[in-house]
Amino acid sequence: DSFTTMNLSRQIMKGLTKLGFTQPTPIQARTIPVGLLGKDVCGGAQTGSGKTAAFLVPILERLLYRPKDAAATRVLILCPTRELAIQCHSVGTKLAAFTDVAMCLCVGGLALKPQEAELRLRPDVVIATPGRLIDHLRNSASFHLDGIEILVMDEADRMLEDGFEEELTEIVRACPKKRQTMLFSATMTDNVDKLIRLSLNKPVRAQI
Ligand code: AMP
Repeated sequence: DSFTTMNLSRQIMKGLTKLGFTQPTPIQARTIPVGLLGKDVCGGAQTGSGKTAAFLVPILERLLYRPKDAAATRVLILCPTRELAIQCHSVGTKLAAFTDVAMCLCVGGLALKPQEAELRLRPDVVIATPGRLIDHLRNSASFHLDGIEILVMDEADRMLEDGFEEELTEIVRACPKKRQTMLFSATMTDNVDKLIRLSLNKPVRAQI
């Protein structure tokens, strides 16, 4: 298997090369084609499986090929911890190095005000932890999720274990109903199942 059979755009292929990725990992081979079709994805995969690129590649392809004139944040990626969000942002920035896609990191431990200013510029992609995103959603008059076309919940089981159920429910409800959603989880607990039923629409399941 190779990325070349996926019909990816030149810019994204260059980004993959920059990252040193030549062959897709199993989760990438399963979910990138599904994600490119705009379908919902439910991926059972652990950290280290390559799931970051599994959702970032379809996201970037969509942003490149379905341009929008009004400035809006179109993609929201939720990660359980600041460290995982930073990692995701780093992979995303490299993968998007040959595009003009703007990504914003929205995590705790950084001052709220400059983050608010960055969000007001409506970056295409926001990578956030649920707690910090909720802070912005509740306290900033201008921040909203009305333009979200793709929602990603990475390591959903960990976000639920960390007690973010209420935040996740509020965030899912604040996104437009018509959207693509990709959820990844290492384990499928009852709580993850509940979140899947709330947020995914006829998902294609990929277990690796
Ligand atoms: P992730 O599960 O997304 O955190 O990725 C785990 C590790 O695998 C990271 O260090 C990635 O840089 C690496 N990785 C992801 N996809 C590939 C790939 N297709 N080829 C080589 N390494 C990869």
